Amino acid sequence: MRLRSATPEDTAALGRALAELVVGGDLVLLCGDLGAGKTVFAKGLGAGLGVAEPITSPTFTLVREYEGRLRLYHLDVYRLEHLEEAAELGLSELLDDGSVTLIEWGDVISPALPQDYLELHLHLGEADDERLIDVVAVGARWSARQRVLAEVWAPWREEEPSC
Ligand code: ADP
Ligand code: MG
Repeated sequence: MRLRSATPEDTAALGRALAELVVGGDLVLLCGDLGAGKTVFAKGLGAGLGVAEPITSPTFTLVREYEGRLRLYHLDVYRLEHLEEAAELGLSELLDDGSVTLIEWGDVISPALPQDYLELHLHLGEADDERLIDVVAVGARWSARQRVLAEVWAPWREEEPSC
């Protein structure tokens, strides 16, 4: 599924909409270049989960923890230089405690992750504020929710080419 965001508000709204259907233990990976809108999406997800404090980029801290309807772990692994460092993040503990985990630059460490996640690839579009977002469900948890994802994100879905 491909989504089109025309403004930062759209991208945040996509995150808020996702908050309606996440459950404890979910993992979401955000891929895309610097400035693609990964943190904007994270802020929307946090808002949708009812996180009161501001969500800031975790670039220098690796993991930030927020309390909402569910606990949210927000990671940015851009600065990880080796896959081995991912082990030190204690990812399996994060994923096991009933929280939602959101990882920016997640594709870098995907070999160290369970093969059960929702991956969003954010690309710059042609217009300045346009972003195209490719959504990939990996594993049973997210494959089972593809239809409901398509529903909550319907306003931003790209038309499928018709023949
Ligand atoms: P990343 O975390 O991917 O490095 P950020 O979310 O921190 O990127 O920053 C994205 C920047 O792009 C912000 O300054 C935001 O205002 C701007 N922007 C412009 N259009 C969009 C859009 N459609 N979606 C998300 N961000 C956008
Ligand atoms: Mg970021």
